[in-house]
Amino acid sequence: MNLDLQTYFTNELQGITSGEELCASLQTTSPTSIRVNPNKITQTLSLEQVAWCEQGYYLPQRPKFTLDPAFHAGAYYVQEASSMFLEQIVKPLAVRPLKVLDLCAAPGGKSTQLISLMQRGSVLVANEVIQSRAQILSENLIKWGKSNCVVTNNDPKDFGFLEGFFDIVAVDAPCSGEGMFRKDPAAIGEWSETHVDLCSKRQTRILYDIWNCVAPGGTLIYSTCTFNQKENEDVIANFLQQTGAECKHIPLQKEWNVVEHEKNGAVCYRFFPHKVQGEGFCVSVIQKLAGKEFEPPRKQAQSKAISIIPQKNRLHYSNLVNDESVVYERHAGIIWSFSKEYRKFLLDIFAHCRVVHAGIPLVETIGHKLNPLPGLAFASSFNQTILPKYEIDLPIALRYFKKEALTLENLPSKGWIHLVYKGISIGFVKNIGNRANNPYPAAWAIKMNLQEELMWSVVNMPM
Ligand code: SAM
Repeated sequence: MNLDLQTYFTNELQGITSGEELCASLQTTSPTSIRVNPNKITQTLSLEQVAWCEQGYYLPQRPKFTLDPAFHAGAYYVQEASSMFLEQIVKPLAVRPLKVLDLCAAPGGKSTQLISLMQRGSVLVANEVIQSRAQILSENLIKWGKSNCVVTNNDPKDFGFLEGFFDIVAVDAPCSGEGMFRKDPAAIGEWSETHVDLCSKRQTRILYDIWNCVAPGGTLIYSTCTFNQKENEDVIANFLQQTGAECKHIPLQKEWNVVEHEKNGAVCYRFFPHKVQGEGFCVSVIQKLAGKEFEPPRKQAQSKAISIIPQKNRLHYSNLVNDESVVYERHAGIIWSFSKEYRKFLLDIFAHCRVVHAGIPLVETIGHKLNPLPGLAFASSFNQTILPKYEIDLPIALRYFKKEALTLENLPSKGWIHLVYKGISIGFVKNIGNRANNPYPAAWAIKMNLQEELMWSVVNMPM
């Protein structure tokens, strides 16, 4: 494709911003930003903060994230700064427990942010239609360590059984990706007008497929990482016209340099790399004014896939986590914890959706033996008194995440040992005497060589 970017953006963004300045900014380096997990890093970092996100920080340069154990342990998420604006939309709504669906969720930037913003008693369904991407989403959410979420692998229209259920539905839609032209110049070669048209049709279809699931008075958050109006204002304006919904305004601070643009009722918050320290991003907040309230199904769904652990056996598991609000479930030899108050909802989800994981996978049962799973170590509610603890250094922590067998000196006992790096719970090894077996999942293991000179950690930076 021979795309004259400057002409294209000048025409496309008339009245919104300068195409020339935008094009010039595409030649500059992308900032690197992270959002910390408040359950794992409680101190404020001595780094420049993202103006619209309390937990968001810029790093002075892009390190090798694979070579930081804290990255693998879900202590932070590498997220593009503009998209962290989600906090400004969700925080005012999160003053009460919320039911949230993140429809296009992989790899998990918005899901991990949503679940950190949501208060106790809330539930998140994080869905991804592409199976391989749903696995990555599941890994990232297990590492984030909260028990009130379910990861599903479904098409948007499969959620029709949850009419009027969700207080928030986030649609971070697949798009033509013009906002990624700077980070990934190859994206320019893949761009075409036909693709933009195809994306806008797909975005519209996704919105209609999921609209029923938004509760009356609830909110649909639509976002893309593209600049053109066909996939942003036009998709939203047509949708508002057909549904009678309305866009909400989000208060902005002038110094943020976020552009609010309104067209035919569609209010879009636009992020341009020549105006903000972040990539291209566009978000719109749509409120459903009226609609059908959720009616719980008359007949409770049954699922053979999960069975609640009977009261008398619960003692074996109940000390694994410090959380009174969970139930213990069994599924395919794995015991996991999930929010008690959403158990019926979970049965419905299992009956209608492909569930990748739910809550926190805690232990695997083999006969009478219990083997702790990585999810237990990553859980923010993990009861760290149940196993002997062993502090490891940075190279050993990375060798653990590379799934190497470890030889650890002066281990406190034989059997299962809990590994910790700089106060961050990393995982478990089984000490069999001459070595420690490493059960870290092969699918999650570091593939690259561990170059000592590039090893680093966020937790070693000044706090
Ligand atoms: N929200 C994610 C995050 O913050 O990490 C990024 C989501 S990405 C922009 C869009 C996602 O939509 C992709 O994971 C893609 O696989 C998914 N997707 C693609 N086609 C879809 C469709 N027809 N319906 C729903 N999701 C789709």
